Amino acid sequence: MELTVVKNATCTFCGCVCDDIELHADHERIVKTKNACILGESWFKNHTAERLYPDALVDGRPATVDEAVEAAADFLYRADLPLVYGLSNVTCEAQREAVSLAEMTGGIIDSHTSL
Ligand code: SF4
Repeated sequence: MELTVVKNATCTFCGCVCDDIELHADHERIVKTKNACILGESWFKNHTAERLYPDALVDGRPATVDEAVEAAADFLYRADLPLVYGLSNVTCEAQREAVSLAEMTGGIIDSHTSL
């Protein structure tokens, strides 16, 4: 099988943003990395173009995005002190929206780095 080679790819996994990664891919899956650390290599190799998951899950069952948004809104509305948590591997724009969500719901925000 012919592989596509991409040089100088950027890894956004941990925040160091290494930008000298070389990736070798078949049509849907990265099969080899060069210059990535073990975390970056795992991240690249486990993200594919294959459609592995439904658009959303609600209580562990596949759901539409609209159903998931409605369920999330309901959870947030009923919560006493919502915690907006995580935010690794997300864009600055997404982080901005998460902060806004925490403010709108009277919640608190934290990232995985507090571990
Ligand atoms: S290759 Fe490793 S050190 Fe570089 S950004 Fe990715 S996870 Fe971080």
